[in-house]
Amino acid sequence: MNHFTHHISQQPAVRDHRFAGHHILSVSQFDRDALAYVFTVAEEYRQAGREISVQRPLLGYILANLFYEPSTRTSSSFLAAMERLGGSVIPINEVRYSSVSKGESLPDTIRTLEAYADVIVLRHYEKGSAALAAQYARKPVINAGDGAGEHPTQALLDLFTILQERGQIDGLTITMLGDLKYGRTVHSLAQLAALFDVKINYVAPETLRMPGELIPQIRVPQSEHTDLEAVLAETDVLYVTRIQKERFTDEAAYASVKDSYVITPETLSRAKADMVLMHPFPRVGEISIEVDTDPRAAYFRQIEYGMYVRMALLAMVLGQA
Ligand code: ASP
Repeated sequence: MNHFTHHISQQPAVRDHRFAGHHILSVSQFDRDALAYVFTVAEEYRQAGREISVQRPLLGYILANLFYEPSTRTSSSFLAAMERLGGSVIPINEVRYSSVSKGESLPDTIRTLEAYADVIVLRHYEKGSAALAAQYARKPVINAGDGAGEHPTQALLDLFTILQERGQIDGLTITMLGDLKYGRTVHSLAQLAALFDVKINYVAPETLRMPGELIPQIRVPQSEHTDLEAVLAETDVLYVTRIQKERFTDEAAYASVKDSYVITPETLSRAKADMVLMHPFPRVGEISIEVDTDPRAAYFRQIEYGMYVRMALLAMVLGQA
């Protein structure tokens, strides 16, 4: 039993094919054993480094990377993940240059791409779109963000990052800060983190609080605040998010909250010495760049961990891990 499974599960890391041929749509599909497995495979790939690109376990497999919304990290990390495992990618980052701009429906686009590809990664601006695509797809669909709904692969990489940085998840106090209403990453992360013995603090402007319907589903101690200072000193993981400008219909409403929180070196002077500072990125001013040299700033390491987690997920749904 390695470091990863030890802290997550009592089960040994045996090959687990429960995700082979399956969609990944929501964090609700994961229990602690499934997480232990994802993280064990991701860690194997991290340690394998270049060696895995020589082995090419996904040689001959094709990923369709279908993005209806802007993305830098999710789209390029899935692309890098697939190519590092020896597979190839149909990149559709700009649906406006595809037949979607001619009015093609999502089901038709999905049924077309699955004729060419073995797995489809989908980002879409509508909540529920990945589940809709999955109804039509015979190949695995991976949800890479559905509107303000979920972002399960981000939550998996976020927990993997916490595990890498702190060695365990149980016992931690996680504070989520920013746009908790529209932020799909926090919706997924809070649900996934609740598989562990954690405490979660939510810090948001009054108008951007965590959705009321999610809170009762998250069965760990939780508390809501508008002021970070109320919980900063007890925080082990500070997860900062951007105000989701694209979800606002009213420009003035966005302007009134956009600068609500900014993490500076001064903020960190009042935080724990071993606190982990994370952000799913892009940041647009919530964390000042002076913070980047602080060892607690984990967001660039988080980006790299994300690639290993996405390598693991691709190999798992394709039945190769
Ligand atoms: N990149 C993340 C997402 O797609 C976070 C963000 O955009 O603020 O949800």
